[in-house]
Amino acid sequence: MEKFLESYWQMRLEALKEQLEKNNFAVAVTQSAQECSRYFMEEMLPKLSPDSVSYGGSMTLGSTGLLDRLVELDSIRLIAPNAPGISPEEKIELRRQGLVVDLYLTGTNAVTEDGCLVNLDMIGNRVAALTFGPKKVVVFVGRNKIVSDLESAMYRIKDYAAPTNAMRLNCKTPCVKTSECTDCKSPGRICNTWTITEKSYPKERVTVVLINEDLGL
Ligand code: SF4
Repeated sequence: MEKFLESYWQMRLEALKEQLEKNNFAVAVTQSAQECSRYFMEEMLPKLSPDSVSYGGSMTLGSTGLLDRLVELDSIRLIAPNAPGISPEEKIELRRQGLVVDLYLTGTNAVTEDGCLVNLDMIGNRVAALTFGPKKVVVFVGRNKIVSDLESAMYRIKDYAAPTNAMRLNCKTPCVKTSECTDCKSPGRICNTWTITEKSYPKERVTVVLINEDLGL
């Protein structure tokens, strides 16, 4: 990365870290998905020492490669709701079990400059786990998710994140054909539950790992 861009993003991420910490989140800043993976495995995981781990669908989490590493650990029971070859009923049951794990991993649709996480879910398991249930939550956030305020967060999600996710998941929704949200009534609608996580409660239950790369949608 060019030096001036490096300085720009480093300052933006440090400013965001400060705001998130004021909102009771624990925060780490990493420079890449690779460094994030190392940081999580070597520094966070030994301290958290979870018996059980689950996760919500997240391209950013996928970019870190962490799930491949966690599945190899005998000391952890990894509840994987997207494992290949399981039925829709089993997926729902695993998502339910994922709400009471020691550690839940996920991404966020947006993070505001004043340190709030904004999300919109189809099923709701991801925002449920972020809100309550798992003892600890780690949220992986690429720098492209930073927006100025709540209005910009909601705009980003409905204008970009939701339609592109619908395309990624091959949904049968109008936005897949037009690229625009029409606030559809489709049975396959992926936009069902909004959450705004203004603060972590209890303090530092949620850790935000900021990553100095564009990751996810
Ligand atoms: S409400 Fe419907 S059309 Fe709009 S983004 Fe969500 S799934 Fe697509």
